[in-house]
Amino acid sequence: MYSQPAAGLEGTPRGDEAQALLRNCVHCGFCLPACPTYRITGNELDSPRGRIYLIKQMVEGAETTATTRFHLDRCLTCRACERACPSGVEYGRLIDLGRELVEERVPRALPQRALRLGLAASLSRPRLFGALLRIGQAVGSWLPASLQARIPPRSARRLRGPATRHARRVVLLEGCVQPGLKPGINAATERVLDRLGISVERVAGEQCCGALGHHLGHTERALDQARRNVDSCCAALDAGAEAIVSSASACGLMVKDYARLLAGDPDRATQARRVSEATRDLAEVIPPDELARAGLRRGRGLSVAWQAPCTLQHGQHIRGRVEVLLEAAGHTLTPTSEPTMCCGSAGTYSLLQPELSSELRRRKLAALSGGNPQVIATANIGCLEHLQVTSPVPVRHWIELIADALDDAPNR
Ligand code: SF4
Ligand code: SF4
Repeated sequence: MYSQPAAGLEGTPRGDEAQALLRNCVHCGFCLPACPTYRITGNELDSPRGRIYLIKQMVEGAETTATTRFHLDRCLTCRACERACPSGVEYGRLIDLGRELVEERVPRALPQRALRLGLAASLSRPRLFGALLRIGQAVGSWLPASLQARIPPRSARRLRGPATRHARRVVLLEGCVQPGLKPGINAATERVLDRLGISVERVAGEQCCGALGHHLGHTERALDQARRNVDSCCAALDAGAEAIVSSASACGLMVKDYARLLAGDPDRATQARRVSEATRDLAEVIPPDELARAGLRRGRGLSVAWQAPCTLQHGQHIRGRVEVLLEAAGHTLTPTSEPTMCCGSAGTYSLLQPELSSELRRRKLAALSGGNPQVIATANIGCLEHLQVTSPVPVRHWIELIADALDDAPNR
């Protein structure tokens, strides 16, 4: 798709990037059936191709209206369209660029701005989020039912795994909301890695990875968080950590993207590349054959429906890995349909677009329930929290299912 950036963008890094990204789209429409929002609304402007047209218009200087913003806001950034596109269009980069432009050109009303700022601030600060969570637990019965369903009971507390020191060490990114909502996930991570001879350490001063702010269009704030994480992670790598590990696929994807996001920052570009290259999703650091050697076939053997988060399968391109690990731990995978479809969580999307998000959850749970699983497993705290609101069976992080099986196995 040819585009001619308008004066003001022409010849700038942003204008050049937009032109290069738009050039690959040949309007074929193969991406449309893969797009969750298009499948629900049937509106071309809620499809990848329609949104690419809207972005092209903005790049070329056409009037940008609230309608443009409305349809870009409804994109989940799930990137299922990238996987379906035969021309290799990097839609995720295009929508980021489109959101930046629309935020600059169509200011939101004050209540909307306040809501988005409030979400970014409260969800990206673990201490503030923890305090809000405790308040929510205290006044739970006064809250709307939809919010109550997302608040864990007060007994949930921060759990620590084993303190064993092994020669192999990795940095575990704790995340912002995960330690408060599901402290058992990071504890399970530590137990499993300890069993495999890997110690876990935290980085001092870990910030939010920046994904929340980034997708809300708060680019500078997100980059600032990225810079601070780059500094902390480089110090840990200098001290001998072999990798930076995330048990939340959305955070891992963001950190893997630091190299690109900070490529133009002369003070951080090299370090950001180092951090991105050292970052692994948890599934990438656990060898299935070592699990098998650990005697995990004596595990509980649940029937599990696997829900691959978009950030894992479309963003990080990790496919089939967790399934192998679950089976190596003695669990049985149940058949599911629509494996590439987003569950509707998508960061703050479930709060900002509740109707579309709820409909996607309904469809996803139906697709996951076909084989009557005992439990649904996923790899991202956002998907987990979103699905469990109406799921008929428990929704857990896959590492917890591995850890449970491991706890039942003899320690070799
Ligand atoms: S499939 Fe790719 S090339 Fe075709 S319309 Fe969609 S984004 Fe453009
Ligand atoms: S990222 Fe997801 S919701 Fe957005 S256009 Fe692509 S497929 Fe549709």
